[in-house]
Amino acid sequence: MPQIKILPPHVRNKIAAGEVVERPASVVKELIENSIDAVSTDISVEVRYGGKRFIRVSDNGGGMDREDALLCFRRHATSKLSHEEDLFNIKTMGFRGEALSSIASVSKMKLITAPMGTSRGVLIELQGGEMSEIRDSPSAGTTIQVEDLFFNLPARKKFLKSNRTELLHIIDKVTEEALAHYEIGFTFTSDNYGTMHLPDASSFRERIMQIYGEEFLEGLTEAHAESEDIRIRFFISKTDNFRNTKTHQFIAINRRPIRDPSISHAVYGAYEGILPENKHPMFFLFIEMDPRRVDFNVHPTKREVRFEDKESVYRFIRNSIRDFIAHPPRPVSYESPSASVVSESLELSYQPSPSFLYLGESFVAISEKKGLTLIDQHAAHERVLYEKLLKGVDLASHALLFPRQVKLSHKEYMIILEHRSVLRDFGIEVDDFGHNTLVIRTLPDALKEADIRDMLSDIASCLLEGTTPLSNLRENIAAKMACHKSVRGKMTLTQEDLTKLLSELERCINPDRCPHGRPIRIFFSLEHLNKIFKRK
Ligand code: ADP
Ligand code: MG
Repeated sequence: MPQIKILPPHVRNKIAAGEVVERPASVVKELIENSIDAVSTDISVEVRYGGKRFIRVSDNGGGMDREDALLCFRRHATSKLSHEEDLFNIKTMGFRGEALSSIASVSKMKLITAPMGTSRGVLIELQGGEMSEIRDSPSAGTTIQVEDLFFNLPARKKFLKSNRTELLHIIDKVTEEALAHYEIGFTFTSDNYGTMHLPDASSFRERIMQIYGEEFLEGLTEAHAESEDIRIRFFISKTDNFRNTKTHQFIAINRRPIRDPSISHAVYGAYEGILPENKHPMFFLFIEMDPRRVDFNVHPTKREVRFEDKESVYRFIRNSIRDFIAHPPRPVSYESPSASVVSESLELSYQPSPSFLYLGESFVAISEKKGLTLIDQHAAHERVLYEKLLKGVDLASHALLFPRQVKLSHKEYMIILEHRSVLRDFGIEVDDFGHNTLVIRTLPDALKEADIRDMLSDIASCLLEGTTPLSNLRENIAAKMACHKSVRGKMTLTQEDLTKLLSELERCINPDRCPHGRPIRIFFSLEHLNKIFKRK
């Protein structure tokens, strides 16, 4: 009796679904990419319950006739490839013909579609991949609705995270696709957080601005470079605008959002010597290259790529960005160009003063009777403000005469609204203005000069990524706020200010470490100095 049997199609589909459909966000990605391939100019995505119970993607693309609509759920059914050679010259987002069959096999799906130029459409319903209804239905473009994902794969369903976490993954995918396809209009609606509406744009720049706002874009610098077989347009952190986390790092090759550690590494390489420790650049890279030199058929979700010549892609990216950073375009003014930011900040400025001495921008050496204290003034400020925020003392909060509008990315906006009450505890009143915009109505005096947009965005990314060592939410937020206020700008204190800072520091619960754990002050006793200089 033979032991080996060929698996029946519904089992094969479920296995394939395991690779293609990891979570609701994978469904959203596949459906959007199909709409893109159908040459749509407008794509709407609606999700409920983090996409677990409901996902709907509608487009105004080419649509399908009845025959194709019946075929598209079959495994390896695709209109995008016909010959083996096509595999090495892929110009569409899809080509494997397995997304719809996989998604259909693990959900309840509804397809309504009509071919361009007619409204005579068809509606097809499936349950776990089995067709349950086919009828005529007037329509334009294509709408695919996916309900109860993994209803027939309970083991898989259990692995899904909370609705909120799944929603965040979905927003990431929609944002990535929208970044890579600026000429397409996107509308994204979720049951909890309103709508993100991105009208069709005329450039990558405009799309980045639609998503993140003008202020965000001002922190980036744009350039492009090309060689014989590769072109790149990039938007990268200005040299004074690094982040504490790896958020806002995006790579697309031939309009396909991808992840590639070696390309990310190339960008970090370009910033070598400029990027402070523990800081990360933001980057948006839009790379175009001959499709024959890059293989997307590495992984079912097509997020990883293999290059024909990885080394040269790496070098091209690193060198183009590095050259650009080293020789930024001349300022428009005729005035003499100022020294670059980098050399300016590396220079140590010694400012002798009766009892203390500045070393660089932040270190202050203070002579004491029994030795010498070195203090990091920014870290000291950070600690003082952090403890004030947590204790709620000295935090006079004032209504702003001109409330400030701050535009954030959809994800940041969502997360800040969720934590509105914690911000209120710290004297920050935030109102929802819709369209990913918040209105800041009150601010504590201590934060009046902080860059609020940057601060909120930083708070959002730390809440999302949980990268700080502090486990408590209030502590996390307070640490971020304190850091924003204290790190920005050069600040030389007068003797009086310094005395005040030192006495405030003395009253802190932990005067020796900043909220991130870095040292604030180091004391060298005369005894210790004697030892160092081998006097004893
Ligand atoms: P692939 O995208 O790899 O071809 P899919 O399973 O995602 O495989 O889709 C199968 C086929 O269904 C596509 O090749 C395309 O012909 C058709 N199709 C899917 N979605 C759409 C859509 N939104 N509009 C028009 N045709 C579509
Ligand atoms: Mg597809």
